[in-house]
Amino acid sequence: MLKNIFLLLALSAVIGPACMAQSYDIVIKGGHVIDPKNDIDAVMDVAVDGGKIALVQKNIDPKQGIQVVDAKGMYVTPGLIDIHTHDFYGTQPDHQYEDGNLGISPDGFTLRNGVTTVVDAGSSGWRTFPTFKAQTIDVSKTRILALLNIVGEGMRGGYEQNLNDMDPKMTALVARRYKDIVVGIKLAHYEGHDWAPTDRAVEAGTLAGGIPVMIDFGGSNPPLSIEELFMKHLRPGDIFTHCFGQLGSREYIVDLQTNKVKPFVYEARKRGIIFDVGYGGISFAYSQALPATKEGFFPNSISTDIHVGSMNDAMKDMLTCMTKFLQLGMSLHDVIQASTSNPAKEIKHEELGNLSVGADADIAVLSIRDGKFGLFDYTGYKVEASKKLECELTVRAGKIVYDLNGIASPVYPPKKVALSKQATLKGETH
Ligand SMILES: [Zn+2]
Repeated sequence: MLKNIFLLLALSAVIGPACMAQSYDIVIKGGHVIDPKNDIDAVMDVAVDGGKIALVQKNIDPKQGIQVVDAKGMYVTPGLIDIHTHDFYGTQPDHQYEDGNLGISPDGFTLRNGVTTVVDAGSSGWRTFPTFKAQTIDVSKTRILALLNIVGEGMRGGYEQNLNDMDPKMTALVARRYKDIVVGIKLAHYEGHDWAPTDRAVEAGTLAGGIPVMIDFGGSNPPLSIEELFMKHLRPGDIFTHCFGQLGSREYIVDLQTNKVKPFVYEARKRGIIFDVGYGGISFAYSQALPATKEGFFPNSISTDIHVGSMNDAMKDMLTCMTKFLQLGMSLHDVIQASTSNPAKEIKHEELGNLSVGADADIAVLSIRDGKFGLFDYTGYKVEASKKLECELTVRAGKIVYDLNGIASPVYPPKKVALSKQATLKGETH
């Protein structure tokens, strides 16, 4: 005991008395906080402690922080939420997005983009979810939630056409068993001219306690009516992803004759249907997005549909998708809202996507770079942008997990200081 006291005395003499009074793990100073859920859009400081948001207010004393982040001239937002991703990477030959080589290992692509929560969009189904959980969800820094595919095996290429493996009861059972992780049901890629897969996905969502479905309206020949989808088959709160897609085998939201959003789309939005970007490889076309946004039709949520293909093509990453909507005239506030509190609400996890005191400390520090940037879609249509979002720093569960330019000081939390703080908390300062 005596030895410990000597050690602490020696430590405090070295570090100085100011450090002993530190009450926060991190203080983020001088950034412009945009927290749409809490209606904050102003220069504020943010303090983080014990993995939680401790304080958001003007002028928090930087001496209170073990690490201090200089965010002057930057934007401080809740950690971004990307609700359409494919994270079930693996080594099974020909399994594509289900334990195959088209999925990504999320931590390598999320944290450096300010993304702290992803929703895997149906890569796994009820049969394969436990494998996905063990090999990806449980070992990632990124918070991974999941939509269960209505297909029991998940997104295993041509297998997705197998109507016999679309079991609403088993899907709902597994969704309920893992209700902290499974936030909805996914239907994707089905090519038959048949409503059964949609209806089974909705049935699974209802049986699982009223969780939403996300529909990637595959492509049938002839295309199924999206008016019928929105008004007759989906429930309020269900999500239409790839909302700015324009493929021959799918009906799309902008009428190419009039170049206007079809009137029933507004009716659907009034009914509570959610329009999500799900950018993907070929699921975003400026020929849809330009006329739609010109008349003020913006997405409820911005998401990437990131996989090995899309991330190396026009989509790139979450911040590039967000930059595209800034360029299309969406305000920065609304872009942040569509990437934080809106998706949190859509997946019924409103504890996420905000900077409320007591919330998990998931934070993105972003800057807007001025310059000449080219944005394009998969058809080769290109627009020029003069501003681009860039991730400066990411905090996940109260720890700095990415820092582009070393704006945290010190860059790494010193162990000695952490030790003295622990001692302070235990009252062992004398
Ligand atoms: Zn997808």
